[in-house]
Amino acid sequence: MAPQLDSTTRDALLARIRFYRDLGLTEFYRRPVDPAQLLGIPSSGLLHDDRVGDDEPQQTSGQQNEGAPGLASNTWDTASQPETSHEDRTIPARKSFPAPPQVADAIAPAEREAALRLIREDIGDCTRCALHKGRNKLVFADGSAQARLMFVGEGPGADEDAQGLPFVGRAGQLLNNMIGAMGLKREEVYIANVVKCRPPANRTPEPEEANTCSPFLFRQIDVVAPEVLVALGATAATYLLGQRQPLAGLRGRVHSVRGTKLIVTYHPAYLLRDPRQKKEAWADLQIAMRELGLKPPPRS
Ligand code: SF4
Repeated sequence: MAPQLDSTTRDALLARIRFYRDLGLTEFYRRPVDPAQLLGIPSSGLLHDDRVGDDEPQQTSGQQNEGAPGLASNTWDTASQPETSHEDRTIPARKSFPAPPQVADAIAPAEREAALRLIREDIGDCTRCALHKGRNKLVFADGSAQARLMFVGEGPGADEDAQGLPFVGRAGQLLNNMIGAMGLKREEVYIANVVKCRPPANRTPEPEEANTCSPFLFRQIDVVAPEVLVALGATAATYLLGQRQPLAGLRGRVHSVRGTKLIVTYHPAYLLRDPRQKKEAWADLQIAMRELGLKPPPRS
């Protein structure tokens, strides 16, 4: 008879599976269960193919608390993981990274919130570029001034323009899931954009607009001084690196920007349009996790 999961474990398991589905990891397999394990006795070699349950991946009590809560390691289909996953992708040897700029050293963590407020005040009711004309709300940033990880996007969309916060629409929901997959909460990271006002019809910011606005982003980076930056999409990568290159040539390695490590990945809005690339984005995030010393999810 199939063992029943308690409701807490079942809910946690379902939530975790949904969240992997959002990342594009949809293939799971069930490992044959040794009946001896189910009976709580030493393995007796009784393993046979009488698999239990049909709806969700199975886990034994011994597996339940290993690694990610509510998800047994055997629910990962390693064959479906991207070839460029954290453990097996070829990453160039780590570079030595220069110390953060002096401005970051000069701002103690406890004073970063105030320093960011000064930048916001400096921006004011900005009319420095043409994007102010269609703006509803200026989108400065969201998250912790003491964040170890900072995400940089392109610019606000309609939802962001309405709420005055970055990444709050559908792409924002996906970004939240990506952050959660890394074992972090949105409140623990810092999120900002290259331009702080919504481009008309969500077009890509013109170079003049991005070059006018991005110095504020650089000041935010200097104040927060994250250990790792993640550029979401080609526009963010272009203005952070100061050079335009195809995204494919920038992904999969660690860059250095203003004394901070930079990882380049796809914009969540692009991932919504082409979910097949979520696996690649997950591989990029695993590089960031490695640089931050965050433990990746268990693999079977
Ligand atoms: S996009 Fe930046 S520079 Fe342009 S108006 Fe908005 S805040 Fe000012």
